[in-house]
Amino acid sequence: VIWSYSTYRQFNKCQRQWFFKNVYASHAANDPLRKEAYLLGQLKSISAWRGDVTDKTLSNFVVRGIAVGKTPKLDQAIDYARILCRRQYDFSTAKKYRSGQSKSSIGVEFCALFPIEYDIPISNQELTKAWNDIELALTNFFNNASLMDRLRSAKSLLAQRALSFQINGTYVRAVPDLIAFYENDPPRIFDWKVHSQGLKSSDQQLMTYAIALKRAKPHKDFPDSVANLQVEDVRISECQLLLNIVRDYELTRDLVIETEEEIAENIFEMNLSGAMAKSSDATANDFQTTRFPEMCTTCQFKKICWENFL
Ligand code: SF4
Repeated sequence: VIWSYSTYRQFNKCQRQWFFKNVYASHAANDPLRKEAYLLGQLKSISAWRGDVTDKTLSNFVVRGIAVGKTPKLDQAIDYARILCRRQYDFSTAKKYRSGQSKSSIGVEFCALFPIEYDIPISNQELTKAWNDIELALTNFFNNASLMDRLRSAKSLLAQRALSFQINGTYVRAVPDLIAFYENDPPRIFDWKVHSQGLKSSDQQLMTYAIALKRAKPHKDFPDSVANLQVEDVRISECQLLLNIVRDYELTRDLVIETEEEIAENIFEMNLSGAMAKSSDATANDFQTTRFPEMCTTCQFKKICWENFL
């Protein structure tokens, strides 16, 4: 079992939901219930979907373009997002995610919306709001001159790069939205957020990414300078795209040590609950249901949790 910032948060909210998503779900399993858990694990709320379309537009179109010396324009990015939204929405409403094909073989079109699967009507108002948020996030991104400078001046840009390293024998996984390497400056990690409130800072998540950049085995396209890097040299930026705010966090040696200790404690806590020791033979009944019953209403796994394990 692999620790990540998001899986730990999920474990804290509902151990059983964590189990379904991270241990039980399997596309390749013969057990139909495990296949079903995999499928349900792909479901997204409309709000998560709008964030995902924004991320994909930035990673697959904007950052990829800048990385090869092009100058993507806002209207092109909006067109890309609009087409992506349409294709994903059609894919989801036709329930093609139940075709049996794997997500990776379908590619960027793959989308499974929670309200479609659970027969909850989606209002035009909700869809319009989601689209307006995507458009606003992209507009703020392009209009932020200092953010664009930071990207254009980079020597290389790596989007959605998975990094992993070990703490006390447990693998820790981190997938920063973007790592920018510079000729003469230390690397900067960017995290895109598409939240209407954006009050909660994501400094701890970003610090985990910085630790991962230093401690993971360097990828072939990392510059040699990564070998001499100290974690506290890495710069980290949280970009609240709906609020048009970029928060830069300072890393210090003490904060790095504190974050590593916190991750180790989180892993220990999950070990105590039996999570890290459980194999795929474990059952959902080995894991506690949530202490926040209101969470069940929007839980992807409620179908199998309520029908098969209560
Ligand atoms: S339905 Fe409720 S208890 Fe079951 S996994 Fe989801 S959140 Fe947890």
